Amino acid sequence: MVKSPRKRRSLRGLLPADAGGVNFNFCRNPNCRNFAVPFNPDRVRGSFELGSYRLEGGGRHGSQLHCVLCDRKTSIVSNAAAVLEIQRLRTANGPLRHESCPGAQCENHEFPVLIHPERYYRHGLTKAGVRR
Ligand SMILES: [Zn+2]
Repeated sequence: MVKSPRKRRSLRGLLPADAGGVNFNFCRNPNCRNFAVPFNPDRVRGSFELGSYRLEGGGRHGSQLHCVLCDRKTSIVSNAAAVLEIQRLRTANGPLRHESCPGAQCENHEFPVLIHPERYYRHGLTKAGVRR
């Protein structure tokens, strides 16, 4: 049986392209000089300069980015998917919007009641006698 030659995988070919001007594939160790520094494809191979990473492959963790400065491994993420998720969190399913007057024409529509309670007043009691 003849073995086919194994293709050598490299970070340059594996890392996803930037999305929206951001790249989330970097060292996650805040005490490392490579923190928030993406892979530098022009680095000298085997050096310890900024942006130096190695590809750790396979296994049950999938391909990982291995920081040569602090030895930490992080999962490789899709930049496009991360940008979409941030967009999603900022809109429909994201942080709750503060309650304000629902009428779009009302001058209080842009003033949430929690931040501007002086612009609202309470009125009436519920059937149980509790203030609404
Ligand atoms: Zn690091």
